[in-house]
Amino acid sequence: MTAQWGEQVLRLTDVSKTYRSGSLEVAALRGVSFTVEAGDYVAIMGPSGSGKSTLMHILGCLDVPTSGVYQLAGQDVGGLSEAELAEIRNARIGFVFQQFNLLPTLSAWRNVALPLSYASIPAAERRDRAIACLERVGLADRVDHRPGELSGGQQQRVAIARALVTDPSLILADEPTGNLDSASTDDVLRLLDELSDTGRTIALITHEEDVAARARRTLRIRDGLLEHLSVTGTAR
Ligand code: ADP
Ligand code: MG
Repeated sequence: MTAQWGEQVLRLTDVSKTYRSGSLEVAALRGVSFTVEAGDYVAIMGPSGSGKSTLMHILGCLDVPTSGVYQLAGQDVGGLSEAELAEIRNARIGFVFQQFNLLPTLSAWRNVALPLSYASIPAAERRDRAIACLERVGLADRVDHRPGELSGGQQQRVAIARALVTDPSLILADEPTGNLDSASTDDVLRLLDELSDTGRTIALITHEEDVAARARRTLRIRDGLLEHLSVTGTAR
């Protein structure tokens, strides 16, 4: 099940984030507003220190804004407790990280099934769903392999399968190709294209213009502010 076009997956309204350490204050985000609709594929670009990771943490419900409103799937996440944020994170967001973040002692399918262990889903169904997602990313023949037995590109595809298994509202990818060679980068980007083409909603952070060019549009952030909105979508 994927969301319908026109439905708002997320909305930021004048979101600011200020870090305080002792007497020092750093305004990492300074009034950021944008919406992402279901089915969109958004790249977030910006130089080092511009606020990308801060924005990513807020989008991923790993942190909350200092001021402003963040709504995910219609729900204001600002007032939620740690436990409620963790629940939303698990149910609504599929994370893909630069470092894959797979558990080395678990097989591919057990890694993929992990996000389901918080839901009351029978073990057999968890396994079936995990294997279906591994098939979806082209790893049907690797379900029992451990991460160390897989290439970097394959590990990232396992991570993408894990991001899909809860059928999340949003796939949030932080430099997903940052640790991959060019062939694996192509694989992962093609997979994200396919997911986008089948209606998945994707937000992806990257430094690389050619990665960002795969998205439908690019948000550019500088000094905690959105620079401008541009429609790309020319790469495909
Ligand atoms: P980017 O990911 O684009 O490199 P960040 O969001 O990590 O940018 O950082 C934005 C600004 O906020 C930087 O000036 C950074 O030094 C500062 N910053 C980030 N995290 C913290 C933190 N936990 N405490 C204090 N300052 C931080
Ligand atoms: Mg960063």
